Amino acid sequence: MNKDRAEERRLMIQTQILSRGVKDQRVLKALETVPRHFFVPEEFADVAYHDHPIPIGYNQTISQPYIVARMTELLAPEEGDIILEIGTGSGYQAAVLSAMGARVISLERIAELADDARSNLQKAGVVNVSVFVSDGSLGWDEMAPYDGIIITAATPAIPSILIKQLAVNGRIVAPVGPQHMQVLIRLTRDTEGIRREEYEGVRFVPLIGRHGWNS
Ligand code: SAM
Repeated sequence: MNKDRAEERRLMIQTQILSRGVKDQRVLKALETVPRHFFVPEEFADVAYHDHPIPIGYNQTISQPYIVARMTELLAPEEGDIILEIGTGSGYQAAVLSAMGARVISLERIAELADDARSNLQKAGVVNVSVFVSDGSLGWDEMAPYDGIIITAATPAIPSILIKQLAVNGRIVAPVGPQHMQVLIRLTRDTEGIRREEYEGVRFVPLIGRHGWNS
């Protein structure tokens, strides 16, 4: 077995990502580059490129590869963009955004997961990602406004405090809805106001915090 697992990544892209219609070459390139197996617990390394989420401890998961690809495509980060991620988890989504040239501020409420994510990111040689322990439902005003905000946990609604932290032409992508199922929503701020688009159904662990769920 190739330790770099490049062949597994190529297969993942062919069978799970391209086949489901994600065609943005920059997203595909990032998925080809980032070693996802560095972002899962060691005992799951052999299934890191399989078509499902994987437990990362503390009742949390690293999302299925297709969902990471789809949300990244909807977020459409440009080189040099400043992106706020809410829900660092393993650090994989942040690494994908960084591979596309974004500067990423990533917020995680569970300190142990933030530590794990930092060490995963370091192991994968990812720069340009800062992980902070914080209730991401409040955003991170210090670095606002953001070119993009991605919420990788299920939220009952997109908190207005986050919309305030979005730059003109910025996008927010989030799974919105009740805890058992959500839809992907993209909000875009343009000079006229906020545009809302709705995409497919998804299922995420809950965003727990002041503007998320209580528990
Ligand atoms: N993006 C992650 C990755 O690439 O591995 C997957 C995220 S996982 C599905 C959801 C994460 O959101 C969990 O790690 C959870 O602890 C975190 N979370 C939930 N509520 C949060 C909040 N209010 N602020 C920050 N992180 C939160």
